[in-house]
Amino acid sequence: ARTRRPLIAGNWKMNGLKADALALASGIADGVRQTGWTDREVLICPPATLVMAVAEAVKGSGVLVGGQNCHAKPSGAHTGDIAAEMLRDCGAACVIVGHSERRTDCGETDADVRAKAEAACRAGLLPIVCIGETLAEQEAGMTFSVLANQLKGSVPAGATAAKLVVAYEPVWAIGTGKTPTIAEVAAAHAHIRKVLDGLMPDAAGVRLLYGGSVKASNAAELLAAGDVDGALVGGASLKVDEFLAIAKAV
Ligand code: PEP
Repeated sequence: ARTRRPLIAGNWKMNGLKADALALASGIADGVRQTGWTDREVLICPPATLVMAVAEAVKGSGVLVGGQNCHAKPSGAHTGDIAAEMLRDCGAACVIVGHSERRTDCGETDADVRAKAEAACRAGLLPIVCIGETLAEQEAGMTFSVLANQLKGSVPAGATAAKLVVAYEPVWAIGTGKTPTIAEVAAAHAHIRKVLDGLMPDAAGVRLLYGGSVKASNAAELLAAGDVDGALVGGASLKVDEFLAIAKAV
């Protein structure tokens, strides 16, 4: 039996105009409502423009809503940015921080990611801290050291299991259709938990998500891998049936 409640999270990235996004959110909410699941959590992370409307659309279904990024500060002169408090105010419960696309596109460092994760906790949001090695790092045999360094640099000060989710997303597996082997996923997750054990008091309770080309057809085996407590899903989270099938595969 699982000791940690699985979390299936959908990252919509920069996809979704109002009509389609609300149809997607409502479809997912209907599916989750029908199952009556209490043994797993389902989270959707729409673009910031739609967090409020999506939160309204899924109300009462049990589906959680999250942001894809936040600023470290609660307010101030940061044109175009969004505070964790603002996401919370719109109905978000979670926020993804340090996604590899933000590390690459926006130059986010581990220190930035830690500051954002701390902001999330300050605002009452659950941070999902993303880590993962690039293809070059993997080929150089550096996967474990990269993951350890990212964790040491980005896990918030005073982190506890109730206030932290970690997503392991090999950069080369994101949006590529490629995935590590089940043994590689299990080994990476065991390593992550061991590193977390040196950083916090209750690492055994932290949920570790796998992300990178998760789809309905591979979800069951990935979710059954050791130390995998859920999935962070990109492309496959944009279709109601596919995303619900992944959530069912737990
Ligand atoms: C992601 O970007 O978080 C992700 C896992 O994307 P995909 O599922 O499309 O590989």
